[in-house]
Amino acid sequence: MKYDVTVIGSGPGGYVAAIRCAQLGMKTAIIEKTSLGGTCLNVGCIPSKALLDSTEHYHAAVHKFTEHGIDVPEVNVNMPQMIKRKADVVSQTVKGIEFLMKKNKIDTYYGFGSFISAHKIKVEKNEGGVEEIETDKVIIATGSMPNTPASMGYDGERVITSTEALEITKVPKRMVVIGGGVIGLELGSVYARLGTQVEVVEYLDRIIPGMDKDCSKELMRSLKKLGVKFHLKHMVTKVDALKTKVKVAVQKRDSEDTFTLEADYCLVAIGRVPYTDKLGLENIGLKTDDRGRIPVDANLQTTVPGVYAIGDVIQGAMLAHKAEEEGVLVAELLAGQKPHIDYNLIPNVVYTWPEVAGVGQTEEQLKEAGISFKVGKFPIKALGRARASMDTEGMIKILADASTDEVLGVHMVGPRVADLIAEAVTAMEFRASAEDIARMSHAHPTYAEAVKEAALAATGDRALHM
Ligand SMILES: Cc1cc2nc3c(=O)[nH]c(=O)nc-3n(C[C@H](O)[C@H](O)[C@H](O)COP(=O)(O)OP(=O)(O)OC[C@H]3O[C@@H](n4cnc5c(N)ncnc54)[C@H](O)[C@@H]3O)c2cc1C
Repeated sequence: MKYDVTVIGSGPGGYVAAIRCAQLGMKTAIIEKTSLGGTCLNVGCIPSKALLDSTEHYHAAVHKFTEHGIDVPEVNVNMPQMIKRKADVVSQTVKGIEFLMKKNKIDTYYGFGSFISAHKIKVEKNEGGVEEIETDKVIIATGSMPNTPASMGYDGERVITSTEALEITKVPKRMVVIGGGVIGLELGSVYARLGTQVEVVEYLDRIIPGMDKDCSKELMRSLKKLGVKFHLKHMVTKVDALKTKVKVAVQKRDSEDTFTLEADYCLVAIGRVPYTDKLGLENIGLKTDDRGRIPVDANLQTTVPGVYAIGDVIQGAMLAHKAEEEGVLVAELLAGQKPHIDYNLIPNVVYTWPEVAGVGQTEEQLKEAGISFKVGKFPIKALGRARASMDTEGMIKILADASTDEVLGVHMVGPRVADLIAEAVTAMEFRASAEDIARMSHAHPTYAEAVKEAALAATGDRALHM
């Protein structure tokens, strides 16, 4: 077969690139070695959110229903059913991608893809046999995998990654999470809500380090209330997996102080690494950088003409929506269009409860860049909507340029801020001022009113309900 474009990897980067290429009239193939949808649909975004939603319901039933005037005699966790529902959500979503591939007349090859040359790809088919396909252009979208250094003793049984943490069918008594980033905290809160004693060991002096400092503090306060224990400025030196438990040796940073944590599981959540194993990059003279990423130019083209790379396998945030935007960008470039991505406006979200979301610059980044800015903050607890739903934790913060009033960053902790951040992205895309947001009508009562109030606060001391 001869294709205009062949995409290797069908995560949110790859399958979106394939759809956009097909929409633009290119004959397109996609190669996937496991299941359509990649990390995101199968072992990432979707299954983790399914478990976050299930456990949030459970937690509300145990801790909030009585106050709402709902007496439930006994609430029990049915873990196998929870995991089954999650698996059903995944399989429905994967089927949706299969449908989209067919609808867009994209040829799907299930197997391992590797380069013979820049225009010839070998597919070792899952069903057996090898096929070679010819192609004009290639998009590498092979994604990433969990980082599991040897010192962490990953065994997939007691020392696990996010992939195995999505499959546990008995509520653990204790879990140690290595890493206070997004994945560790989301999965940590899944289990903390179910009653597991979760302890997070983080090397840095705060959790979710890439996000705004105030958001880190707010989230840590909320997670502590949930019962999560934190060991900031600590590092794990050794993990010993025994038959039914793990022993985790922890050392205080810049000190000789050590202690051992015992738990049913140790979740290693210290980040992900680009995946290019056996891809045959050497056959086309392509080298990865010191962090295993495929170097690309501003058009996401590699050093080999006609070979592009997108998503987790290249530089930048490891986020599904970043991968998607890059997939669209490459497809449109190949069609002769002039697309553009503003990486500053790719939002970051943590789906704990309260949720955390941010876009644009943080206070620390603005200070470092020497940009003068104003801060407008509004607490979620001052909203009528938040009191009605009993979700009063968090705040919204808007950072605006001190002289032009242009919104430079928006950072949120609170209920449904994962969805609320879209307003900030829209406003910033259109280069709105804080005044613009402050003058827009926001439905009452909603959580979105906090965005307007924070904008009012940023434009002067004008917040109305504080
Ligand atoms: C637990 C967890 C939760 C997450 N939650 C979120 C979230 O809420 N929001 C968010 O934005 N991001 C989230 N992420 C990150 C997100 O999943 C990734 O950023 C995203 O999946 C990257 O997309 P991608 O297309 O680059 O690669 P991937 O999704 O990793 O897909 C790559 C695909 O390529 C296939 N492949 C690799 N090599 C080959 C080969 N040689 N031949 C054939 N196929 C191959 C793989 O099997 C895989 O299916 C989460 C990740 C995890 C682990």
